[in-house]
Amino acid sequence: MAEVEPKAAIIGWPVDHSRSPLIHRHWLRELGLKGDYERLPVAPDQINRLKALLVEGNYVGANVTIPHKEAAFRLADRADSVARELGAANTLWFEDGQLLATNTDGFGFLANLDERLPGWDRNGGKAVVLGAGGAARAIVWALLQRGFAPVLVLNRTLEKAENLARHFGAGVLAAPLSQAGTVLKDAGLVVNTTSVGMHDEGTFDFTLEQVRPDAVITDIVYTPLRTRLLREAAERNLRVADGLGMLLHQAAPGFEKWFGRKPLVSAALRQIILDDLGSSA
Ligand code: NAP
Repeated sequence: MAEVEPKAAIIGWPVDHSRSPLIHRHWLRELGLKGDYERLPVAPDQINRLKALLVEGNYVGANVTIPHKEAAFRLADRADSVARELGAANTLWFEDGQLLATNTDGFGFLANLDERLPGWDRNGGKAVVLGAGGAARAIVWALLQRGFAPVLVLNRTLEKAENLARHFGAGVLAAPLSQAGTVLKDAGLVVNTTSVGMHDEGTFDFTLEQVRPDAVITDIVYTPLRTRLLREAAERNLRVADGLGMLLHQAAPGFEKWFGRKPLVSAALRQIILDDLGSSA
C-alpha cells in the first residue's frame, strides 16, 4: 500500500492571502520531508464540522486563523493550558484520534523579540499594549509570563480592554486609546496589536516622546514591515522590532508536531515572505 504523505492546512475564512503555506512548504523542502500544507477555507456555518473536515481530508493537523480561533478551541477534544487561558487555538493536531489544540501566538511574539532584540525583557516594568482583540490577548499573556508589570491595555472600544484586564486580573489595567499620550509615560515596551498602520492606513494621535529612552517598540502589523509607529520609534533612537518574525515563529510548533522535525526561522525564510509581500503590495 502506498504510504500516505502527511498533510496539514490553514483553516480560516478567507484564507487566500495566508502566507502559512509558503512558510511550511519552505520548511518541508529545506528538511527534505515528504508532505504538504494547504489552504482550507471553512465558512462560518461549516466550522462546527472542524474535526470531520480534518479527518475526511486526511490532515494530520492544522493552523487556524480569523475568524475560527475561538471555535477551534471549543471544538477540540482537548486543549493545553495556553489555549485554555486564551480561550482560542491556532494550532491543532491529532493524537490517538483525539483533536488537540494549543495557541502559539504568544510564543511567536516572544520568540520574535528574543531573536531580534536579545535581552529586550531584561528591564521589564510598564508595558503598553495597543488594542484588545485576539492577538492582544495572547500578547498580554506572553508579557505576564515575562514579568512585565503593569501591563496597560489601551483600546478604541474601552469595554473590550476592560474585559481583557478583568480576564487576567491584577497586573493588567485598561484605558481608552485616547489616553495613550499620558499612559505611555515611562513605558519600557509598547506593542501595537491594532490594525492601525496596515498598508500605511490610519495613524495614532500620540507620539512616543514620553516612553523610556531604553524602551522597545514593536508592531505586529507587518505590511509594511516598517509601520509609521516603528518609523517614529527609529527616528527617536528607540529599539524596534517588526512583526514578521511573530508570524514565522508561531508556525514552528505546529510544523514540529505534524512533520516531526524542528524547523528553523532563518533569514532565507524571512526573505521568501518579504518577496511575496512585495509582489502582492
Ligand atoms: P481583532 O481581534 O479583530 O482586533 C482588532 C483590534 O484592532 C481591536 O483592538 C480594534 O479595536 C483595533 N482597531 C481596528 N481598527 C482600529 C482603528 N481604526 N483605530 C483603533 N483601533 C482599531 O484582530 P487581531 O486578531 O487581534 O489582529 C490584530 C492585528 O494584528 C491585525 O492587523 C492582524 O493582521 C495582526 N496580527 C499579526 C500577527 C503576526 O503574526 N504578526 C498575528 C496575529 C495578528 P476595537 O476593539 O475598538 O474595534
